[in-house]
Amino acid sequence: MPDVKMVAGHQPEKAVADVTGAGLRVGVVGGSVAGCALAIAAVRSGADVTVYERSDGALEDRGFGIVVPPPLHAELVGAGYLDAGMPTAPVPSRVWLTGEPGQRTARELARQPAAVTPCHWGLLWRTLRARADGVTYHRGRPVTEVLRHPSGGAVIRTAESEARYDIVVGADGPRSVTRAAVAPQVRPVPARYVVWRGTLPLDVLAAHPHLGELVRTAWITLGFQGGHGVFYLIPGAVEGSRLLAYALYGPPPPPSWTAGREEYVRRVAEEHFPADWADVVGRGVHTSLACHDVADFHVPRVAEPPFLLAGDAASITRPHTASGATKALQDALCLERALRASSSAAEALRRYADERSDEGARLVALGRRLGQAMVERTPDWAAMGPVEVAEWSRATLDGAASYLYGGAER
Ligand SMILES: Cc1cc2nc3c(=O)[nH]c(=O)nc-3n(C[C@H](O)[C@H](O)[C@H](O)COP(=O)(O)OP(=O)(O)OC[C@H]3O[C@@H](n4cnc5c(N)ncnc54)[C@H](O)[C@@H]3O)c2cc1C
Repeated sequence: MPDVKMVAGHQPEKAVADVTGAGLRVGVVGGSVAGCALAIAAVRSGADVTVYERSDGALEDRGFGIVVPPPLHAELVGAGYLDAGMPTAPVPSRVWLTGEPGQRTARELARQPAAVTPCHWGLLWRTLRARADGVTYHRGRPVTEVLRHPSGGAVIRTAESEARYDIVVGADGPRSVTRAAVAPQVRPVPARYVVWRGTLPLDVLAAHPHLGELVRTAWITLGFQGGHGVFYLIPGAVEGSRLLAYALYGPPPPPSWTAGREEYVRRVAEEHFPADWADVVGRGVHTSLACHDVADFHVPRVAEPPFLLAGDAASITRPHTASGATKALQDALCLERALRASSSAAEALRRYADERSDEGARLVALGRRLGQAMVERTPDWAAMGPVEVAEWSRATLDGAASYLYGGAER
């Protein structure tokens, strides 16, 4: 991570009303989901926005699945952040499964109302990027430094340029340069397990029509001792098509493993899944596959004028909460509200921090409880039915709302 130099000095507050004509100048570091969403928020509030994205690759080609709460999806469409035509694959409920000794197919433990709106990461990014049409978007432009300007605002530096802004938004992900300016003491806390995130063509289900029928009506949690798998359909990049997306939580591959990633995932599935699900994972050629170390952190206060953090730059939770992109999108809606309600950039950032800072801490705590209950100290799934799953869910949530458990979360 590059060093961040802080230039001490008084920052006069600039009235939004004074600058709306010329436009508040907002610089956004990172042009992924959070960067595009926050850029839209700032443009809609009348700001002049520039995004700096490190990668010069095609972000739209990332093929992973992302689920968001249906009410949030509806709000984003209504507000104009998302295109109503962006394909999604909504389902109203969640089905819990586990393998039983000697059985080829899984047993259904419980079915809960837990509506989700699954999206294709690349299509989500593409629709956000298209909506950020009033924004100057630089690809292949890594930010090397952000620093306070002695007479107000902040400076974004790249190898080729240096520009001054009233607000700098850090949407630059887990290793954020911007976070180093706001909260240099924050460090990720690793969990001792990994998550594999993959997508497979739908024909992997052809040999198992009962599984195909199941994933068309629900998203699936498949529990085993020491981990679990999550399965759901997402829209494919080709119009009208579907992919099977999954996440598989368990121990990391041993250092001696040299046979490749797909082979490792297949081995875990064969070892822990009933034969039909293991066959699904082992059958197809992945359209995407990645292994993520699971870790979490949160920044205690997510804005210190002129800096603001959003998305993974502000906090990361264990992915059991399915909340990272969701939080980034909520961050954007909050920034727009705060800018519209405030008479200065600094006031808007204080409002944003007041509203959004606790969410990171809440989600980190929830992710840890879910991780412990679903990976580190898994229950005896085979002994459970609907009543036990409901009791176990209540105890694990411990009063927290999660749309993945039917909670009213936007
Ligand atoms: C297995 C798994 C499953 C998940 N499932 C879900 C889910 O179902 N629902 C959900 O809501 N969330 C989910 N998430 C979380 C979600 O994927 C992330 O939280 C979200 O994509 C983060 O978006 P972001 O824009 O904040 O960060 P990123 O996507 O990491 O983007 C950061 C961007 O900043 C750029 N950048 C970095 N440094 C610089 C620099 N110095 N200069 C310029 N640019 C820079 C990077 O190139 C990148 O494009 C999941 C995560 C995992 C690991």
